[in-house]
Amino acid sequence: MAILVTGGAGYIGSHTVVELLSHGEQVVVVDNLRTGHRSAVSSAARFYEGDIRDAAFLKKVFGENEIEAVIHFAASSLVGESVQQPLAYYDNNLFGTYSLSSAMVEHGVHKIVFSSTAATYGEPERVPIEETAPTHPESPYGETKLAMENMFRWCDRAYGLKFVSLRYFNACGAHPDGLIGEDHKPESHLIPIILQVPLGQREAIGIYGDDYPTEDGTCIRDYVHVMDLANAHWLALQHLRAGHSSNVFNLGSGTGFSVKQVIELARSVTEHPIPANVSPRRAGDPAVLIASSDKARSVLGWQPKYDDLGTIIRTAWNWHQAHPDGYSD
Ligand code: UDP
Repeated sequence: MAILVTGGAGYIGSHTVVELLSHGEQVVVVDNLRTGHRSAVSSAARFYEGDIRDAAFLKKVFGENEIEAVIHFAASSLVGESVQQPLAYYDNNLFGTYSLSSAMVEHGVHKIVFSSTAATYGEPERVPIEETAPTHPESPYGETKLAMENMFRWCDRAYGLKFVSLRYFNACGAHPDGLIGEDHKPESHLIPIILQVPLGQREAIGIYGDDYPTEDGTCIRDYVHVMDLANAHWLALQHLRAGHSSNVFNLGSGTGFSVKQVIELARSVTEHPIPANVSPRRAGDPAVLIASSDKARSVLGWQPKYDDLGTIIRTAWNWHQAHPDGYSD
């Protein structure tokens, strides 16, 4: 039986496909390639180009493969864009998940591991953030991800669809073999933008605000390596296979780094001075986001391997140096 990975041509999806294959899983990928890359998908996986909102397309995929479980990444994921285009996020994220869940129920597939986000919490009352913290998403992105989680909760009750929702903090880094990595166009994430400076693609990194209530005035985030995230998806699948009930887990390193600290580490990894200047705050950025991942560690047995940010940046740097313009398709 196969594992269906939606959005398997995207950043975290493509790394999870590699992780699943390394455990001997049979993998089917669907992706509409709107933001994903065909060449990010391992040739050992069976690939279908198409959209999860297309019921006929899903019927074909579920009809042609014996799907045991789904790992669901296919979604739009930019906070700023979601504020500008909320309806597009409700369509792609919520309607897409409705369409996928309908196909699963119709074909008797009852296990799903779901790509959720720290953005479901909004501005935290306390850090580190635990899964029991209140959820007050501050963007249509966070709101639709939370609604997707709730959709699964009701589907569990009505149809016995078991889910594990993984709320990621700041995904970063690249596969250590350097063949796959991060490629968003346009790029909005801190580490790849910093690395554009030593690549000669940008003069300086702009720091979004240095007047936050933190030690050096810049925002603090919890950076977690993409292969550690990928591994958590495989562990979550084992959790569901073992017959456990549906659950929600944070995935982060539990350690916060400020924007200035990340830049400093990137300077030491790349041996480049990386000039930085301060620009205005970006709307909607909380000062500090740090995860408590104790639950994932104790219940799923998750043990991040790349818990050193210097090593994480080094894996990203390997990828970007080898692929300065990202994927060719
Ligand atoms: N950031 C920045 N300059 C940039 C991009 C990001 O100062 O060019 C900051 C951003 O304000 C946040 C942190 O870097 O505090 C991480 O941002 P990113 O977009 O990578 O992830 P997010 O925290 O939004 O999920």
